[in-house]
Amino acid sequence: MRANDLKGGEVAKAMESALAPRITALKNRRMIPTLAIVRVGENPGDVYYQRSAARRCEALGITVEVFAFSESIAEEQLANEILNLNMDERIHGVLILRPLPGHIDDRAICKALDPKKDVDGVTDRSLAGIIKNEPQGFAPCTARACIEILKHFKIEIAGKNIVVIGRSLVVGKPLSLMLTALDATVTVCHTKTKDLPAIARGADILVAAAGRSRMITKEYVREDAVVIDVGINTDENGKLSGDVDYNGVCDAVSAITPVPGGVGTVTTAVLAAQVVEAAERS
Ligand code: NAD
Repeated sequence: MRANDLKGGEVAKAMESALAPRITALKNRRMIPTLAIVRVGENPGDVYYQRSAARRCEALGITVEVFAFSESIAEEQLANEILNLNMDERIHGVLILRPLPGHIDDRAICKALDPKKDVDGVTDRSLAGIIKNEPQGFAPCTARACIEILKHFKIEIAGKNIVVIGRSLVVGKPLSLMLTALDATVTVCHTKTKDLPAIARGADILVAAAGRSRMITKEYVREDAVVIDVGINTDENGKLSGDVDYNGVCDAVSAITPVPGGVGTVTTAVLAAQVVEAAERS
């Protein structure tokens, strides 16, 4: 049996339809939700994400302003630029494309951002909100995207065994805490995890966020498992690939997100939703 494709486009469309009246309501209050995207250097992946996020947001009536800086910008100068965005009343949300160049301390730049404008959940206040399960700041967009997919397709989370492969602050760690708050039993795996395939096979829902092209093969999954593939990688031939060997796995599980067209598509819809929410809170 071939698995159901959990198509991100369908989830994004539903989320965007729900956003439209909220954007209209803001406009009636003479407020145009506005996102600032901060980019340092010309990394092609950053430029691609910036363009696709901008296209999606603008189609919804969200204004996007790009603040692009040279690769050699000093940390202090970049922090000052973030402080300027904090004070700019036109801007409701700020997305900082990361990782930043090596000479800049990522955490120092994230710390400079006003948590009220932290639409990608990078500040300590946002992370504290996730740990405490309190509505402060915002969740990292990709982590929330995984949950939006499960909810949209009515895949039960409470009481399920969920294995998350990856423990980064951007995806694995916040997602595992968010799933725990939704009453799942969560196992977080990483590079030092022993016998990963056996642990993964115990999952009702397997989330792959390791950044390793097609590492999740058939031996990692159970027949009735749902697989969420967060990975966006380039394979040895320079082709876009997920963390899951889609062709090898899709016949062996009950449902799976494709790459592209899965989590990434929903991530930009979550970004738009969080900009609208930031505007509503302001
Ligand atoms: P990261 O490198 O910061 O973290 C990877 C995590 O996976 C680490 O915790 C590491 O311990 C774990 N890991 C790596 N190799 C492993 C292995 N062989 N076995 C077990 N654990 C392993 O990466 P990240 O920023 O969390 O991103 C993960 C993936 O998700 C990447 O492919 C990235 O491109 C993708 N991503 C996608 C979106 C999206 O919108 N879909 C957003 C962010 C990141």
